Amino acid sequence: MAVAAGLWAAVDVAGQEPQVRRIPERSEIDEKYRWNLESTFKNVQEWEAEYQAVARQVEQLAALRGTLSKSGPALLHALKLRDDTAARLERVFVYANLLSDQDTRVNEHQAMEARARSLAVRYGEATSWMEPELTAMAFETLEEWMGQSTELAVYRHWFENLFRQKQYILSPREEELIAMAGEVFMTPHNTYSLFVHADLQFPTIRDADGQPFELNDAVFYKCVRSHDRRVRKEGYEGITGTYAKFRNTAAALVNGAIQTHVFNVKARGFPDCLTAALTPSNIPPAVYENLIRTVNENLPLLHGYTSLRRKALKLDDGVHDYDLYCGFVGKQKLEYSYEDGVKTIIEALKPLGTGYLEPMQRGFESRWVDVYSTRGKRSGAYSSGTYLTQPYILMNFFGEYDDVSTLAHEMGHSMHSYFSRSTQPYVYADYDIFCAEVASTLNEILLQKHVLKQVTDPRVKLYLLVEFLETFRGTVFRQTKFSEFEHRIHQMAERGEPLTADALGAVYGELMRRYYGPDYTHDDLVDNYWIRIPHFYYNFYVYKYATSFCAASNLARRISEGEPGAVERYLTFLKSGSSRYPLELLAAAGVDMTTPDYILDAMQHFKNLLDEAEALVDQLIE
Ligand SMILES: [Zn+2]
Repeated sequence: MAVAAGLWAAVDVAGQEPQVRRIPERSEIDEKYRWNLESTFKNVQEWEAEYQAVARQVEQLAALRGTLSKSGPALLHALKLRDDTAARLERVFVYANLLSDQDTRVNEHQAMEARARSLAVRYGEATSWMEPELTAMAFETLEEWMGQSTELAVYRHWFENLFRQKQYILSPREEELIAMAGEVFMTPHNTYSLFVHADLQFPTIRDADGQPFELNDAVFYKCVRSHDRRVRKEGYEGITGTYAKFRNTAAALVNGAIQTHVFNVKARGFPDCLTAALTPSNIPPAVYENLIRTVNENLPLLHGYTSLRRKALKLDDGVHDYDLYCGFVGKQKLEYSYEDGVKTIIEALKPLGTGYLEPMQRGFESRWVDVYSTRGKRSGAYSSGTYLTQPYILMNFFGEYDDVSTLAHEMGHSMHSYFSRSTQPYVYADYDIFCAEVASTLNEILLQKHVLKQVTDPRVKLYLLVEFLETFRGTVFRQTKFSEFEHRIHQMAERGEPLTADALGAVYGELMRRYYGPDYTHDDLVDNYWIRIPHFYYNFYVYKYATSFCAASNLARRISEGEPGAVERYLTFLKSGSSRYPLELLAAAGVDMTTPDYILDAMQHFKNLLDEAEALVDQLIE
């Protein structure tokens, strides 16, 4: 059934905020809109009994120290006990965590979560000897034992992955010394967090209606997405300017974080920081370099988007950084009931076939999702759950397009988890972070394609096109730019060049001019924008946003065009967890991350959106 046009209530509400609603108590919400926690534990008493059982098992694990190399059966016993303990511990933790998040006002639930957390720390201590004890063995011995036991052979990829990194593991005493310095290494990031969250004081500006409001980091995007240029400029300058006052402190902090990466490289014998950061997921640096090169070759597309933005918003003095985020027309309201949203998602994901849709529909029906905002409930959205539980999605559904898109996104994570957990043994049930955003983004893109076909009102269409262009810009171009910044400053540190505020600002400013092109106007203040970004403390994290998005875009096109075998290969990927290396899994799904092709394909998707937006700008904006 096609989504009836009547589901759409497109109202132009430029400049308005959604009206303030009364937030209900949880007890006022129909059970079908609440997640099914009872399917994990019937009640807190049942959780408590399991907590005690897991705690006993953790002690049994600690007692196995020194037994791994005794025999194949001894090793298998330890690994199976470890997996069983870990899976049950995660279930204990997830239940406490979900209970706590559904109403953060309940102290008893917070206490349960804290106890689960400390049990997890004890588990970590009780098993910390296992990997060093294993890698001290000869791989040939494991090979022999695996030949004698099919149950032990299940762990082959896990063993290989462990031994692959053996060359970077130091002597026990050296490892102990590095572990002892762990707190010290965390100081730059911890200090940055305190500086940003506790010490910064932001000024007050006036909103579009002239009402004063105090700036803080959380309202940054609200300001720069405003249709009132004064609000964008004052909000941007108020926030970035506050950070910029501390540019020398911020440079010293980020330098401190990067020096810990350089220390790790030197201590363990990695060739450079990039390789060290990519090694855990077994990603070759060529994948990273391919991303940077291919995105750079396609920057004329981003320049074209900047030019269109200048024209649509009539910016005579060029597009400033604070002009990069807002829509071309005022906010167009698309209203959905939760049921409409679910129906739209099911329609949009039809190209994935019944092998995907049927378990997803069962998921909706068996209450994976906690739908509405209630008093004390955590804000935002996430997908959770673990090996021994159903998937769980927390969200706060207010009936806007973004909420439907968020639901499709989180459902993508949950379906990936569902398929992997129901196919793989525990040891391979979790997917690598490198693959984690592919399934969620693919759903978002299929939803975009579907919704664009539904919309007839040209203003609504232009509004959505710019939203989608912004998602692409923010995830692919902007994160690649951040990653390039991160790489450049790591290279400077490796060469022993000082990371001063001026040096960092020069790198950032050059990137901004190069990425946004001739219609972009650079203000000196923008040289300090990097101070706002906490990801520079995460060690080569952000490039994964861009690679995941491009891989998802490529897969979404092939699936929606009905390419033979595309759906089957994608479902195999979803079912594979971490049973192979991320790059091998994506290659088997049809995406070769070492070639430019999948990125070029995503760029074509961006170009299509841009062309459509351009035609509508010509039609709607004189
Ligand atoms: Zn996600």
